[in-house]
Amino acid sequence: MARRMGSEEWATAALAEIAAAKTVADVEALRVQYLGRQGRVTRELRAMAGLPPDERRARGAVLNACKADIEQALAQQREVLTRAEQAQRLEAERLDMTLPGVPPAWGTMHPITRVRRRLADVMVRLGFTIRTGPELETEWYNFEALNMPAEHPAREMHDTFYLEAPYVLRTHTSPFQIRAMREAGGELPLRVATLGFTYRRDDDATHTPQFMQMEGLVVDRGIGLPDLKGVVLAVVRDVFGPTERVRLRPSFFPFTEPSAEVDMSCPLCLGAGCRVCHTGWIEVLGSGLVHPRVLEAGGYDPREVSGFAFGWGVERVAMLLYGLDELRPLYQNDVRFLQAFDAWGAW
Ligand SMILES: [Zn+2]
Repeated sequence: MARRMGSEEWATAALAEIAAAKTVADVEALRVQYLGRQGRVTRELRAMAGLPPDERRARGAVLNACKADIEQALAQQREVLTRAEQAQRLEAERLDMTLPGVPPAWGTMHPITRVRRRLADVMVRLGFTIRTGPELETEWYNFEALNMPAEHPAREMHDTFYLEAPYVLRTHTSPFQIRAMREAGGELPLRVATLGFTYRRDDDATHTPQFMQMEGLVVDRGIGLPDLKGVVLAVVRDVFGPTERVRLRPSFFPFTEPSAEVDMSCPLCLGAGCRVCHTGWIEVLGSGLVHPRVLEAGGYDPREVSGFAFGWGVERVAMLLYGLDELRPLYQNDVRFLQAFDAWGAW
């Protein structure tokens, strides 16, 4: 800005200050400092009042020229800085709508969930009703009602999570048998199944403290071992294929009489014998005819009706089905491991 004749030192300094302002806010502060109600220009104009008319006119001309210069400098600097600040903001806040987004992390269905759903589906197709039961059970439902009185060695066999009496974390899904029978109120036939978590103090390659069981119960008149074998065979074939065979081996469970372990032909070697099965057979589930005392605890008369029950470890099914050597990875939540089962599709 050209300096006008008669301009003042302070006005010259003001123009330099305005030109050096770095932000719009600085410009505004300078405007107040010079042109505000208490500003330098205002004060100088006010001070003219005491001058003689001639001097006042000359002084007025100088001050008005200074004021005009300052106003123009302020406007110009404000314009320059506003543009610069806008350009800077545009650059900083630039949003590129063509950039690819962040893809969401897709989950997959847990292998145990796949197997559980599959087993539930098989049982429903065989005419069973799926029931649930509490994981926090009383000792009566978990042991006594299932023919395991207080001194029964089976209560040690299960290394149980005992809670404040009379509660335990259920050691098997079998308490559901008692609950289902008592709720049925003697009605026949009774065909129920359950799938749920159970708890024992086990922790090694093939045992976890929490594991899932699938259990089926049938009560009716004239139920015998052929019925048990027929249903078990149907379930095994549905899950592992139509060429599967099963065999029953005598065993012992407190809540069934007689009791039988069920073996199925090894799905890996088709019964020829391999590293996993050695004999061509794989032990898959426990079963038997419902013990008369268990029927009584469920409100049925064992002289009139009979029944069978079988229980299967869901993780065991998953291990056989997916060829797993270890059970623990199923509960370690390693997404890479769990995603490997995507290949099985609906399974
Ligand atoms: Zn085999």
